[in-house]
Amino acid sequence: MGAVGVLAVQGDFIEHVHALERLGERVLEIRLPEDLDRVEALVIPGGESTTIGKLSERFGLSDAIRERSADGMPVWGTCAGLIFMAKNLGNSGQATLGLMDVTIKRNAFGSQLDSFETDLEVEALGGDPFPAVFIRAPIFESTGDGVDVLAKLNDGKIVAAEQGNLLGTAFHPELTQDLRFHEYFAKKMR
Ligand code: GLN
Repeated sequence: MGAVGVLAVQGDFIEHVHALERLGERVLEIRLPEDLDRVEALVIPGGESTTIGKLSERFGLSDAIRERSADGMPVWGTCAGLIFMAKNLGNSGQATLGLMDVTIKRNAFGSQLDSFETDLEVEALGGDPFPAVFIRAPIFESTGDGVDVLAKLNDGKIVAAEQGNLLGTAFHPELTQDLRFHEYFAKKMR
């Protein structure tokens, strides 16, 4: 059984490591392109997407991630990680990995609603609503043809989606005790 990588250049990567370990996964922190050779999937954490982007580019990680993703490696981005995965950003010119065929709007809730928690219906997870933590969160402005929407807020804003090997959430499952998104991603890996 292969290991899961967590991109560990900036942001709340350690929370993802702990969540995956609680599920019994073998986890490796990814800081160099060659680290990626030892994992079967990659999580990109929340944090500051411009910093994660710049450091990943500088360390040669961006190209390595693009290559592996094109080969089908599962990649999951949460919050800043989702921003970094997107093909298009509606309100920022920063460089991204250009993986997921979506347009993402950064800091979509403005300063008044900086962070909040809400119960989300996520059919793909079944059962109880998911406790979603949003922190200076982005939203999906639009999604391409091959993208499946997994969750919306009550006002219709899209906050989780997947496209083949790619999973994106605008919120932070790693900051809750609910491991169902981590389980969902681990299943994608198998
Ligand atoms: N606002 C951050 C950004 O634009 C993302 C915040 C987060 O990851 N919690 O990168």
